[in-house]
Amino acid sequence: MKKFACVIFSLIFALCLCGCSPVKSQVKSVKVILFIGDGMGFNHVANTELYYGEQTYFSSFKTKLKVQTDSLDSSDGETPTDSAAAATALATGVKVYNQSVSMLNGENLTSITELAKRKGIGAGVVTSDTLYGATPSAFTAHATNRNKTDKIIESQLNSPVDLLLGSGSYYLSKTYAKKFKRKGFSLYNTLSSTNVNKSKVLGGYSSVIPENATDERPTLTQLTVKAIEYMELHYPNGYFLMIEGAYIDKQSHNNKLLEAMQNVRDFSSAIKTAESMVTGEYSIIVTADHETGGLQLAQTKSEISNELYTTTEHTTANVPLYYSSSLADIPGELLVENGVIDNTAVFYLCKNLLVV
Ligand SMILES: [Zn+2]
Repeated sequence: MKKFACVIFSLIFALCLCGCSPVKSQVKSVKVILFIGDGMGFNHVANTELYYGEQTYFSSFKTKLKVQTDSLDSSDGETPTDSAAAATALATGVKVYNQSVSMLNGENLTSITELAKRKGIGAGVVTSDTLYGATPSAFTAHATNRNKTDKIIESQLNSPVDLLLGSGSYYLSKTYAKKFKRKGFSLYNTLSSTNVNKSKVLGGYSSVIPENATDERPTLTQLTVKAIEYMELHYPNGYFLMIEGAYIDKQSHNNKLLEAMQNVRDFSSAIKTAESMVTGEYSIIVTADHETGGLQLAQTKSEISNELYTTTEHTTANVPLYYSSSLADIPGELLVENGVIDNTAVFYLCKNLLVV
């Protein structure tokens, strides 16, 4: 009996050696790039295509879904999400109240960038907004309110992310430059000086604009080139990158359609650039956090005007999701019904792809 038990134990031990214990070198991830067009609804995309007379790059992606964007404030059936709660859902898979930055009931929610870094793969955030804006903050910080700028930046100092690129001269101020350098970051404020060979990179430019770029004011596409160069160099085995086009939302709040469409076009160009540069196994997810402006669809180019907006606020409309991958299609279990997924499912999609 003793001998039999010993054989069984040896067998279990042997099985564990072969199958149970993960061998680190065999842990392989993929490259996941999540593009968030802030405020970008279906009609922002369609009107842009009509206006410029060409398809956006991502609208030719094979997989197209709809995303439901409600936050915990939306239970009244009419309050739309804000960017903080929506980005938190995308970054952590948890619905929170508006204004919250990856926190619920006083607790920090673990984000996809934190999971990626725990696994030892790369993680970075690129935005045309300030780096302490609601969307990039949900991927790099924890705060009870999106308006607590200093609290957010202090939290970002403890974020494990490798790369931060966006509008952010404030980060290069006396107060913060020293602190970020102490955390190992190399700091830059022009595109040409931004050195992707450095181990951790913070690019804080005076602004990020969709057209007529300068060295101090690059486009989202130019920042995307830097980000992919960095990740391909340092993390060829896998990384997570979030890239946000923030001004589709901001211009839509102002009901400025031409300016919003210029930003959709730069966003599209950034996605095309990313797919042309990424190597190996990858997935590119393009979605929005919510719709802004209740934008109506023009039937002809001549109908395109600011009058197509019906509000200066966010709406509860579903937003599009486009998916391109070297791997299999999106798993069907993420679907709610009729091609609709919940915004929290985007987090689980990234998590499953990255195996984190
Ligand atoms: Zn907004």
